[in-house]
Amino acid sequence: MRGDDLALVAELAARRGLDRAGYAALLEGLTPRGEEELFRLARETARRQFGRAVYTRGLIEWSNVCANDCLYCGIRRSNGRAARYRLSREDILACCERGWAWGFRTFVLQGGEWPSGEEDRFLAEVVEEIRRRFPRCAVTLSVGERERAVYRRFYEAGATRYLLRHETADPDHYRQLHPASMSLERRKQCLWNLKDLGFQVGTGFMVGSPGQTAAHLARDLEFIQELQPHMVGIGPFVPHRDTPFRNARAGGLEDTVRLIAVLRLMLPAALIPATTALGTIAPDGREQGILAGANVVMPNLSPAAARESYTLYDNKLSTGAEGGEGRALLARRLAAIGYTLSDSRGDWRPEGAPEAEE
Ligand code: SAH
Repeated sequence: MRGDDLALVAELAARRGLDRAGYAALLEGLTPRGEEELFRLARETARRQFGRAVYTRGLIEWSNVCANDCLYCGIRRSNGRAARYRLSREDILACCERGWAWGFRTFVLQGGEWPSGEEDRFLAEVVEEIRRRFPRCAVTLSVGERERAVYRRFYEAGATRYLLRHETADPDHYRQLHPASMSLERRKQCLWNLKDLGFQVGTGFMVGSPGQTAAHLARDLEFIQELQPHMVGIGPFVPHRDTPFRNARAGGLEDTVRLIAVLRLMLPAALIPATTALGTIAPDGREQGILAGANVVMPNLSPAAARESYTLYDNKLSTGAEGGEGRALLARRLAAIGYTLSDSRGDWRPEGAPEAEE
């Protein structure tokens, strides 16, 4: 072990990063005192950049039809028990309509992926229409790996943000979680392409996915430091009963909030959600995430039937404070820990820059 954990926390905060060995040592050797200091610094860093405001994004799960076969995911291609659906253009616009009325100014379209000219055209047209009807909103896409030219079309259509978790930055671990047809290199290239095209880019990984070690996580952090994304989404792995990992252990709350705090110190300006998976594994998971430096929540705007069928993992929350209709409840829960739900669009801005007029 290289130095004590307090020294590593101080170095991380001062230099906005460690090397791979430093991350591994920090994750393996964190003492209660080191952890307290890590949370304190991460919380302060988030408050310096965002005050007590938490941004919201409305999540629209537009399709669970997927060509991929990620071993952890409930909507993987070979899960014959998933009831497949695709929302129509009118369904999606109705979600935005409701979301706008509830106060959402960012719409995130997420889904399985069935790459085809038809699906790409459909998404580009829907994005254009959302931007036409709600000119002051932002549209985020989270629809997986596409050719660079397709990403460009999405950007020109008006989607300016893109979420694509790299899932794990270790090639061997990647092969444990994905079929041989999928490639970590291709996924990373997609992220670089998105960044290069001008998107605000989000990446991330699951915490406690099967086979994950501290060395793997250190590599994830190292990759994120290299990419310098605008957003980072992490959440615990949660098993799904119809996947090969049905009997695997779920990722931990403690591990997840610690990593949120590390990410906040690495990337003071990043938009970091307290994810649904975090809220799913513990009743106060969302609040603990915010207190560790997260500053975004993403309630669900999908129609009820879609929420049922978009089960990435067992018991995934989509109602109460995780539902768009529960915005007032969510605001009360955040108020209870001293935070307010922001009604701004919540664009990324450089460290120290004030929030721009929208
Ligand atoms: N097809 C898109 C969207 C994937 S779903 C894409 O590939 O980007 C969004 C995220 O849910 C994934 O990136 C993954 O990290 C997470 N996820 C999938 N299955 C999960 C599980 N069993 N537990 C926790 N998170 C999971």
